[in-house]
Amino acid sequence: MTPVAAPAPEPLLRAEVSAGALRHNLAALRARASEAEPVGVVKADAYGHGVGLVAPWLRAEGVAWLAVATLAEGAALREAGDSGRVVVLGAPLPAQLPAYARLDLDACVTSPDLAEAVAASGLPLRVHVKVDTGMHRLGIAPEAVAPALARLAGAPGVTVEALWTHLATADAADASFADEQLARFERVLDALGDAAPPAVHVENGPAFVRALASGRFVGRRSLARLGGALYGLASDPAVGGAMRGLRPVMRLVTRVVHVQTVAAGESVSYGRTWTAGAPTRVATLSGGYADGLPRAMQPGAEVGVAGRHVPVVGRVCMDMLMVALGPAGDAWAASVAPGDEAVVWGRGGPSAEATAAACGTIAYELTAGLTARVPRVAVP
Ligand SMILES: *Cc1c(COP(=O)(O)O)cnc(C)c1O
Repeated sequence: MTPVAAPAPEPLLRAEVSAGALRHNLAALRARASEAEPVGVVKADAYGHGVGLVAPWLRAEGVAWLAVATLAEGAALREAGDSGRVVVLGAPLPAQLPAYARLDLDACVTSPDLAEAVAASGLPLRVHVKVDTGMHRLGIAPEAVAPALARLAGAPGVTVEALWTHLATADAADASFADEQLARFERVLDALGDAAPPAVHVENGPAFVRALASGRFVGRRSLARLGGALYGLASDPAVGGAMRGLRPVMRLVTRVVHVQTVAAGESVSYGRTWTAGAPTRVATLSGGYADGLPRAMQPGAEVGVAGRHVPVVGRVCMDMLMVALGPAGDAWAASVAPGDEAVVWGRGGPSAEATAAACGTIAYELTAGLTARVPRVAVP
């Protein structure tokens, strides 16, 4: 038999990723604070949206800075041909520093020991010095910042680009701890005076959206690290209202692959966690936890089918999930057929935030958790 050249079959479950929505969100965020320069956070495959799509779109919109979490993600951007400024937000190991220099990636200095390792390396490195103002994940304690900066200032080849910190409660309803962190950061800056680096960055997307700190760093070159907000995602229900005006960039769509009537008293899926109380039209959809759809979707989450939101019933399987369309006899339920589109989240279905809430998590975890089996498809 002669092999036939044919395009690979498209998986039924796919993530549509909208360039227009991303552009809209970037413009909306830029309009909120013209004095802050956006840093497009594209870690974790652009929160699952596909860094190969998102990074070039952001560059085309004039975003001079991108941020990733790890050296490997920075290297992948370089491999893909991105030659702009990229800051790696995670803590480097000293043994990784030569790779930062070789790949021209900005490194974060997150401890006094790392300041020493950078200064002693003799490498040409651009660094962002992180202050731990209360997140207690990474960073230099406020009182140790001045000596670390002095050590770096004495190292030829090392450029300190920015001083920065990260807020623990940017998206909480109560802003008092974020204010306290900002006050600690400002005290560090004030004490440094002329020894302060040329730029600062504090806000992540939620802090920026809520303008927690806007106007506090007047007169300083300021960067804002924008992640979820760029993708139209709310990090927490508390910022939901403030997020209005941003559009979800991802729409996760699949197809109905099977429909049946489940008799009263019969159960659906593993473990028999759902039993039909009356004869029920049930659709089976392509997509499961191997695609990143959480098992925790059941019970509580819904999926959009032909404009209606219908509940997930029975355990989410590795490759499939089931939804209850309605009573057996219902004309609309009877009209749903294999091949019909079903929206897991996005336009025509529930929001990623609503699905996340049903799963006891946040939308970031859902989009970032989509696996390689889900193609990311660019749409306008
Ligand atoms: C992920 C991350 C961000 C982006 O946060 P969003 O809530 O997505 O805007 C900003 N800063 C740091 C240090 C991060 O790790």
